[in-house]
Amino acid sequence: MEEIVADLVVIGSGPAGQKAAIQGAKLGKKVIVIERAPDPGGNCLYNGTIPSKTLREAIIDLTRFYDRSFFAATYKVGDVSISDLNFRLHKVIEEERNMVYRQLKKNNIRLIIGTARFENSHMLIVVDHDFRMLFQIKSDFFMIATGSKPRNPTNIPFDNEVILDSTRILGLNKVPKDMIVLGGGIIGSEYASFFAALETEVTIVDKKDHILPLLDSEIGIHLQTALTDIGLRFLGNKEPEIIERRGDKAYVQFKDGTSLMGETLLYALGRVSNVDALQIQNTGINLNERGYIAVNALFQTTAPNIYAVGDVIGGPSLASTSMEQGRLAARHAFGAQASYFPTFYPVGIYAIPEISSCGYTEEELRDLGYHYEVGRAYYYEIARSHIAGSNIGMFKLLFHAETLEILGVHIIGRNATEVIHIGQLAISFHAKINYFIDQIFNYPTFAEGYRVAALNGFNKIKLKK
Ligand SMILES: Cc1cc2nc3c(=O)[nH]c(=O)nc-3n(C[C@H](O)[C@H](O)[C@H](O)COP(=O)(O)OP(=O)(O)OC[C@H]3O[C@@H](n4cnc5c(N)ncnc54)[C@H](O)[C@@H]3O)c2cc1C
Repeated sequence: MEEIVADLVVIGSGPAGQKAAIQGAKLGKKVIVIERAPDPGGNCLYNGTIPSKTLREAIIDLTRFYDRSFFAATYKVGDVSISDLNFRLHKVIEEERNMVYRQLKKNNIRLIIGTARFENSHMLIVVDHDFRMLFQIKSDFFMIATGSKPRNPTNIPFDNEVILDSTRILGLNKVPKDMIVLGGGIIGSEYASFFAALETEVTIVDKKDHILPLLDSEIGIHLQTALTDIGLRFLGNKEPEIIERRGDKAYVQFKDGTSLMGETLLYALGRVSNVDALQIQNTGINLNERGYIAVNALFQTTAPNIYAVGDVIGGPSLASTSMEQGRLAARHAFGAQASYFPTFYPVGIYAIPEISSCGYTEEELRDLGYHYEVGRAYYYEIARSHIAGSNIGMFKLLFHAETLEILGVHIIGRNATEVIHIGQLAISFHAKINYFIDQIFNYPTFAEGYRVAALNGFNKIKLKK
C-alpha cells in the first residue's frame, strides 16, 4: 500500500470535486482526486446532466421538433432509433471525458481510481473493487464531493428494460410506445417531455395536483399546457402503492385503487446522498435528518478540516451550483478570499419547452408582503419566435411597484436557460425595470422578450399613477 501526503484530497470527480480540485491546484496546493468509477466526470457526465441534455438536443434535432409548425398537419415524426440517439450521446460523453482528463493533467492533479473511506479526520484509505487497500492518504483538508444516486426503495423490482430509474433509462434499447413516469419533479418532467416529443405516449403521475410545484405557478400552468399540447398526460393526487413487472409490462397500483400498465416505467421520486462507502463515522461528521452531510455556510462539516460540496449536501443539487460550492470551499480551506454562495442563482429545467428562473416567484413576493408589479411578454409577440417556429412561452418579470427594482425573472420557452442570464445580471446589479426599456436589443432575438415584458409592466405602473 502506497502512503501519500497531500494538501487537499477530493473524493469524487463530478462538477463539485473537479472545481474544488482545480481551485486547490491554482492556489499552488498538492491535490489528489479519488474516483471510484472507471473514469472521472461524476454522475453529471455519465448518468445525469450531460446524457439527459444531449438526448434532449438529439431528440429536438432528429424529430425536427421546432420545424413541425411549418409542416402540414399530416407531418409524422419519422422513426428515431435508440442508436441514432446514442451516437450523439457517446460522442458528447467522450469529448467531455477527454476534457476532464485534460484539465486534471494541466493542473497537475493526481487522479486515483478507487473507493475512499475515512480512517479518521486526517487520513483515508483507498480500496479497489475487491476491497484491497491501495493507498493511505494523509491530508490537511478533505473535500467530500461524492454526489447522489436515485432513491430506489428495495421493494421495487428495477431492471434494465421495463422498470427504470434515471440511470437505467440511458440503457433502453428501443423507443417505447408508452411510458409511465412516477414523479413530476425536474428529472421526471424532463424525461417525460423528451419521450413525448418522440411520440411515446407518456403519462406522468405525481402526488401533487400539478408538476414542478417549485415553479412560479403561472409558469407551471404554462408548462402543463405546453406538455399536454405535445401529447403528455398528467395525473395528479396519486401515490403508487404497488409497482411490479407483469410479463413484459410495468404495473402500478395507486393508493386510490386505480392502476396503470405501461411498456416502461420511469421511477423518478427523489435522490439520496452517496455516503455509504465513506465510513464517516470515523470522522465525527454529522448527517442531517434527510441523510445529507450537514455543512455550515462555508461548506465545512462538523470536522472543520473536512468540507462537503455538491449533491452530497442536498439541495439545490445542480451541477451549476455544485461547481461553485467546490470552488468556494477550496478557497476557504486555503485562506484565499472567498465570497458567500449567492442568494439568487438561475435554475434551469430542460423540459421541452425549457424553463429558467432567477429571484423571487410571485407567490414568494405575495407571502413576503412586497408591493410588486408584473410585466409579461408572450413568445407569440416576439418576431424571433415566429422565425424559429417556437411561439410557445413567456417572459415574466416581477419588480417592485415603487422602486422598480427587478425581483424575479421567470422564462418558459426556447432558449430560456440561456437568456435567463440577462435577468440574473439585472437582479445582481439591483437594476430597475426601465433598464430593459432604455436599452436597444438585437432584433429579432428571444432576448427582446425582456424589453417587451418590461414595457408591459412599466405601462401598468404608469396607468395606475
Ligand atoms: C437525470 C439528471 C439530469 C440532471 N440535469 C441537470 C441539469 O440540466 N443541470 C444541472 O445543473 N444539474 C443537473 N442534474 C444534477 C447534477 O447532475 C448534479 O447536481 C451533479 O452531478 C452533482 O455533482 P457532484 O459533483 O456533487 O456529484 P456527482 O456528479 O454525483 O459525482 C460524484 C462522484 O463521486 C464518486 N464517488 C462516490 N462515492 C465515492 C467514494 N467513496 N470514493 C470515490 N469516489 C466516490 C462517484 O462515483 C461520482 O463519480 C441532473 C441530474 C440528473 C440525475
